[in-house]
Amino acid sequence: MEYIPAKHLLQRNRSTEWFGTDHTMNLYRGCCHGCIYCDSRSACYQDPEFDRVKAKADALRILRDDLARKARPALIGMGSMSDPYNPFERELLLTRHALELIDAYQCGVAVATKSDLIVRDADLYGMIREHSPVICKVTVTTADDALAAKLEPGAPPPSRRLEAVRRLSEAGIFTGVLLMPVLPFVEDSEENVLAVTEAAARAGAKFVCAAFGVTMREGQREYFLGQLDRAFPGQGLGERYRKRYGYRYQCSSPRARELWEGFSRRCRELGLLYEMGHIVSAATRPYADRQLTFFD
Ligand code: SF4
Repeated sequence: MEYIPAKHLLQRNRSTEWFGTDHTMNLYRGCCHGCIYCDSRSACYQDPEFDRVKAKADALRILRDDLARKARPALIGMGSMSDPYNPFERELLLTRHALELIDAYQCGVAVATKSDLIVRDADLYGMIREHSPVICKVTVTTADDALAAKLEPGAPPPSRRLEAVRRLSEAGIFTGVLLMPVLPFVEDSEENVLAVTEAAARAGAKFVCAAFGVTMREGQREYFLGQLDRAFPGQGLGERYRKRYGYRYQCSSPRARELWEGFSRRCRELGLLYEMGHIVSAATRPYADRQLTFFD
C-alpha cells in the first residue's frame, strides 16, 4: 500500500444538503472497484492513477486531531470520492478504526459503499446509533449481477450488496440503497429501476435514493465512453452519448420523468422513503433533543 500525506481528514461541507452531512472524510485516495462511470476519475481531482488505492498517512491521528478541533456533534460523510470499503480495508482497518474515533467523539456517520464488507462494522454502527444518526447507503445501480460485472467490474455483485442491506437492516441500522447513477440507454428501463427498488424493499431498506442519469466531465468522459463501447461492442453507445450530451455535465436519461413517476409510486406502495429531505429527517429525528448541527 502506498501512503500519501494529508493535512486534514475532515472537509467542512459548504452545504449540508447531501444526506445532511457536515463534513466529508476520505481515508483513501483512489478506488479499485473500477466503476466505468466514476466521477472521481475527472481531471479536476488530479489523480491520474485513480484505479490504484492509496491510503492517507497517519490518518487516524489526523482524524483524532480534526475531531477534537471541530464543532461536535456533527454528521460525517464517508464514501464520496473513494470507497471506504475497498478490498484493502479488510486488512488495513482504517475505516473501522475511524468509526471507533467517530463513536468516541460522539459524532454521527453517513457512509456510502459498493461493498458488503460494510457488514463487518455493523457492531460499530450499532454503537454510534446509540448517541448519533447513522445512515448506511449501499449503491446498487442494477439488480443484474452480469450487467454490474460490466459496469462495476471490481465491486462485489449487487446480490451481495443487497444481502449486506438485509444484514444491516436486521441489525437495526438505518440502511438504504443509492440507485445512482442510472446510465442512459443501459440501465434506464422501468424494469431495471423497479427491480432494484423491489429488491431493496425485500432486503429491509428504509429508503431508495435515485438519480436517473449520469455526470460526465473532462478526464472521466472519454474513459467512460471508451469503456461503454468496450463493454457493449457494436451498440454505438459512446457515439450516442456524444451526440446527445456533448460536453454537458448533468446527463439525464431521456426517460427520467417517466422513470421518476413509476419509481416514486412504487416506493410509496412499498413504504420506502425516496426524497432526500425525508430520508435525512427520518435518520436524524430520534436525536432531535441533542444540540446538533445535523439540523442546520
Ligand atoms: S466504488 Fe465509488 S469511488 Fe469506487 S470506482 Fe465505484 S463509483 Fe468510484
